[in-house]
Amino acid sequence: MSRTRTQVGIVGAGPAGLTLAHLLQLEGIETYILEDRSREYVEARIRAGVIEQAIVDLLVEAGAGARLQHEGLVHHGIELQFAGERHRIPLSDLAGGRAIVIYGQTELVKDLIRLRLESGLPLHFEVSGVSVHELETERPLIRYRHEGRDEELECDVIAGCDGFHGICRPSIPAGVLSEFSRGYPFGWLGILAEVAPSNDELVYAHHERGFALSSLRSPELSRLYIQCRPDEDLAEWPDDRIWVELQTRLGLEGRTLAEGPILEKGVTGMRSYVCEPMRYGRLFLAGDAAHIVPPTGAKGLNLALHDVRVLADALATWHRSEDASGLDAYSDTCMRRVWRAEHFSWWMTQMLHRPEDGDPFDLKLQLSQLRYVTTSRAAATSLAENYVGLDMV
Ligand SMILES: Cc1cc2nc3c(=O)[nH]c(=O)nc-3n(C[C@H](O)[C@H](O)[C@H](O)COP(=O)(O)OP(=O)(O)OC[C@H]3O[C@@H](n4cnc5c(N)ncnc54)[C@H](O)[C@@H]3O)c2cc1C
Repeated sequence: MSRTRTQVGIVGAGPAGLTLAHLLQLEGIETYILEDRSREYVEARIRAGVIEQAIVDLLVEAGAGARLQHEGLVHHGIELQFAGERHRIPLSDLAGGRAIVIYGQTELVKDLIRLRLESGLPLHFEVSGVSVHELETERPLIRYRHEGRDEELECDVIAGCDGFHGICRPSIPAGVLSEFSRGYPFGWLGILAEVAPSNDELVYAHHERGFALSSLRSPELSRLYIQCRPDEDLAEWPDDRIWVELQTRLGLEGRTLAEGPILEKGVTGMRSYVCEPMRYGRLFLAGDAAHIVPPTGAKGLNLALHDVRVLADALATWHRSEDASGLDAYSDTCMRRVWRAEHFSWWMTQMLHRPEDGDPFDLKLQLSQLRYVTTSRAAATSLAENYVGLDMV
């Protein structure tokens, strides 16, 4: 087994791991990134697409946002559709001028991988058998297999950026973490379609047949979702059936939903989950490894990048001056934003999705909440400032 040494060993080349490595590179801190999938797989994974202004600013300032700035689509509002009408929430007017940017997570990941490879710094794809050890010591280790060889990476700290199904969180001994979760009896059937978006802004639709969302990834690509069962069988959803359902849920008199070839489709289950603290010894969890949200609030990707911004700052301070106060406060600092996003995502989800049993009482409450949010400036402002991202440390 060969042994290598680095300052920060990063498990996972998703948005959290790649951004952390980039921010640490700017601070002159050595990193190693280990990813168990292939580059092609990671770059093709269709996921989030709504980026908060603060995260755009972070990426641009870090020199990783050139294409995002050029190709990202700035949106100043969203629409809520219910009871046969659409109502606009003017996000920027209500939230101090801030906006959101539509830019696919896949594109962001491609940008970050390209920057990393250009820098010549270590990023290994298709590693296997990743495991983390000696977490309570000052020399934690990552063991893995790469290109047929067993490797050991000795680190100052390990960043667990390996998503919800990764190995870092389960490596923390039982009893250390407090876990909080909420399941939902529905999922989203999402499609990527080769057709210009029919709406200028995102449309969140409450409908008696279930929730639908009209979103986009570019001026040529629409991203559309319908509420479905969490275990929905895609084989039962030929393209025609998907379009009929989308037309029913998103359709309005005088507006048409343009159809086009479906390039990708998939079902995503929904869950809220948080573990605390986001640290064990010299292992720091970031992004989906520590928390997930249902996608209704568009917060998952943003939270992951907020975490690594806090972690990168804390590591830089520690490496510069041996001041560990930022690292000690890391979990608490992140948790304030995480729980705000957890609440907002849960709130949007329960306001917009058809309850499992279609309970008429719940439906009346949802419609009342939607009317309130679209007629009260105070309620709309609350939605807007959460959606564009609150100012927090
Ligand atoms: C199907 C799906 C759809 C989503 N849609 C939306 C959406 O529409 N809107 C929204 O806001 N959010 C969405 N999200 C959430 C958002 O994509 C995530 O919050 C975001 O990807 C978090 O980034 P991350 O880097 O923390 O984790 P991830 O993106 O999960 O990255 C983790 C990385 O670690 C790697 N890894 C895992 N295990 C190991 C291991 N043992 N060794 C090495 N590497 C490992 C993985 O391959 C992956 O590359 C979606 C998530 C999923 C799963």
